[in-house]
Amino acid sequence: MIIVLMGAPGAGKGTQADLLSERAGYRKISTGDALRKHVKLGTKVGKLAGEIMARGELVPDNVLLDVLKEEIGPKSNDVIILDGYPRNLAQAETLMKVVEADHPVRGCVHLDVSRSNLIARLSGRRVCSGCGSSFHVSGNPPKKDGLCDKCGGSLYQRPDDDAKSISVRLDVYDSSTKAVLDYYQKRGNYCKVNGEGVTDEIFKELTDAISTCLN
Ligand SMILES: [Zn+2]
Repeated sequence: MIIVLMGAPGAGKGTQADLLSERAGYRKISTGDALRKHVKLGTKVGKLAGEIMARGELVPDNVLLDVLKEEIGPKSNDVIILDGYPRNLAQAETLMKVVEADHPVRGCVHLDVSRSNLIARLSGRRVCSGCGSSFHVSGNPPKKDGLCDKCGGSLYQRPDDDAKSISVRLDVYDSSTKAVLDYYQKRGNYCKVNGEGVTDEIFKELTDAISTCLN
């Protein structure tokens, strides 16, 4: 069974997806992680994706979907939290066609955070150059200034984390995902969770929403 986890950049989706996997025992699949893993392992789809990324191009939908299919694997009773997919209506429709038989999509849970809050979170974000972990200058500072807690790599501000680029990214995200949210709303398995406040409380609301979807 698949639960699609939706949330704008900066909504805390990655953090919550990690908690869902650690505390609730759900299988978490993030398209970003899955891509990196397959490129590193040199699987057939990984090699193809790696070549495309090395050219500085975006990985096309069909390749992304192959990576996902490989990650999701054969029919099972696992509850899979899908993070980072679908990002547009076409992907939502394809996802249903490709995995529905073995892994029904039981719900779409939307982590909702106001735009002003998203901007504050994103502009303070620092990312590890080594392992990709995220920190925040005020919300989640690293133990040593400028260095990653997990691997010791140096932290940097992504060039697209400045105010203007953030605003553009949020607009792009909104315009492409609005149709995805509408799509799940129409199917009757959409649920909105307030993504502002204390991490543990958000986690509780999120697990409640997922339980409702699964029942
Ligand atoms: Zn690191």
